[in-house]
Amino acid sequence: MSDPIPADLVERLRSARRVAVLTGAGVSAESGIPTFRDALTGLWANFRAEELATPEAYDRNPELVWRWYRTRRLAVAAAQPNAGHRALVRLAECVPVTLITQNVDGLHVRAGSREVIELHGNITRVKCSREHIVVEEFADTDELPFCPRCGAGLRPDVVWFGELLPAGALERAQDAARAADVFLSVGTSNIVEPAASLPWIAARAGATVIVVNLSDEGQRAGPGIHLLRGPSGVVLPELVGALTGEE
Ligand code: NAD
Repeated sequence: MSDPIPADLVERLRSARRVAVLTGAGVSAESGIPTFRDALTGLWANFRAEELATPEAYDRNPELVWRWYRTRRLAVAAAQPNAGHRALVRLAECVPVTLITQNVDGLHVRAGSREVIELHGNITRVKCSREHIVVEEFADTDELPFCPRCGAGLRPDVVWFGELLPAGALERAQDAARAADVFLSVGTSNIVEPAASLPWIAARAGATVIVVNLSDEGQRAGPGIHLLRGPSGVVLPELVGALTGEE
């Protein structure tokens, strides 16, 4: 079930000079990639994702963190972009879009979106935990691999809780939010800062904010903020279909 798309929202999107889109883990849920709010399963059932995604967790037990990310990396490699990712590619063919994602799965790029701002890095890349230089060749097993240059452990090239975002990424995202006439916030619980503030930066600058989420839990309401409830793999194709006149 999804909410009907109000015609005036479609019109605002059609006449927008700049659109910014922020996505979170929800947009990849229909590709089979669990969100952070989903309980971990199997071997990982006794852990919380937030407790593995920190520099402290890696310092304490790098092998454990490596193995968890390897499990996720393999799951991402086996997953396919879904109808929501593909709808955002079509949206960018209709209006000028800046796509900002908190996701580390690279599925927007695999779906065909260009110049994606990956605020939290990309799980498919691996880097040295000391010098933060990306390492292309390493033995990809459950055993923690080490940097061929300095011998430090390797880790995923993602932003952990408490770490800085990639240089320039936040500034570009904030500029896009300020410049947007329409800001789409898709499949994010809007908890993790600084990404969580982007829709409100856009709203303060006068943008229409469209929130696409399975639930209204934790979503801000207010003038200029519209919630379209439903799975992003259904709502986004409907929204873009209404824009292009295709179903
Ligand atoms: P989150 O787990 O906090 O929230 C997910 C949100 O998506 C919730 O609001 C939920 O209601 C909504 N949702 C779930 N399924 C949906 C669907 N099919 N359609 C629409 N909405 C749906 O995720 P977050 O806000 O992105 O923040 C958590 C952090 O977790 C981020 O920093 C991100 O880097 C990281 N993360 C990324 C991935 C990924 O790359 N796929 C997966 C898990 C976590």
